[in-house]
Amino acid sequence: PRVGAQPPAPAPRRLAGPGQPGEPLEGLGLRPRIAWDAGLADAWRPGERGALTALDDFCESALSAYPAGRDQPGARGTSRLSPHLHFGEIGPRQVAARILGLQAAGRGAGTETFLKELGWREFAHHLLVHFPRTPAEPMDARFRRLPWRRDYAQDLRRWQRGATGFPIVDAGMRELWATGWMHNRVRMIAASLLTKNLLIPWQEGARWFWDTLVDADLANNTLGWQWTAGCGADAAPFFRIFNPVLQSRKFDPLGRYLRRWLPELRDVPDADLHEPRPQAIVDLAATRVRALEAFSKIKD
Ligand code: FAD
Repeated sequence: PRVGAQPPAPAPRRLAGPGQPGEPLEGLGLRPRIAWDAGLADAWRPGERGALTALDDFCESALSAYPAGRDQPGARGTSRLSPHLHFGEIGPRQVAARILGLQAAGRGAGTETFLKELGWREFAHHLLVHFPRTPAEPMDARFRRLPWRRDYAQDLRRWQRGATGFPIVDAGMRELWATGWMHNRVRMIAASLLTKNLLIPWQEGARWFWDTLVDADLANNTLGWQWTAGCGADAAPFFRIFNPVLQSRKFDPLGRYLRRWLPELRDVPDADLHEPRPQAIVDLAATRVRALEAFSKIKD
């Protein structure tokens, strides 16, 4: 049955508490000593109420334009429900039931596309159940033989820090560091640069996302990385290599996203904004050829 065909179970009237309170949370020393988490605190409202508010806001303001809005990192075009869904603060059936309710009320714009995205989450979770080794191993076994680079520590570090010299990737990596979230379009572009142009194993990127995302989810993260690397169940073919400059021009034409996360580019004219900086980490054309050669070695 399609997602949401079964209604969500009603909330229980009572929940048994944990019994005797243990050590107060404050005493456990969990708060970071240096307040590096201010960006995260500003960006999120954890808990059920925060989740329901995010769903309300999305349905009111962004859902109807979601089919195109979901691809514009400079706009608030997606639901930002991912951490709430991951931690079970809201369930996928609850979300689907709300969306189907809007459809039934004649407010269907955007709803089909959004339900499809929710479906990706279901697909990812089913894959993980049936293929439990995929967080570490490529679904497509040929990719075990891909000649990934080995001497990549310095480049990996530059990618993690948002210092690749490709504005859209650096903006994304800084958004991730500041808020614990990165726009889906930018996740794909950043992951493509890492796995294809830099030829760094996708597992390294997945590990960094795992450490930094507030929505870090073993199923969705594995699906996202294997999809981008071209070795997953429903993979973009390896030879489809995102060009970060063209992607940036297309999906952030006014540079709203770039200027938000890269204040040093504020005064760069629009025409130059998306271009690689002078010390960019790779030459796109040459590394594209290198990636295609690597792939040709494992093709059947
Ligand atoms: P919306 O567009 O509002 O979508 C609603 C919900 O649908 C999301 O909250 C999510 O639960 C689900 N969804 C949407 N797109 C996908 C997708 N491609 N795959 C699986 N579920 C999806 N998502 C995570 O939740 N955790 C991760 O660790 C994660 N890692 C990713 C890594 C890479 C390399 C890529 C390319 C994608 C990854 N995603 C991950 C998927 C996607 O980027 C996020 O789910 C989405 O950006 C979350 O924002 P949102 O809630 O505003 O999404």
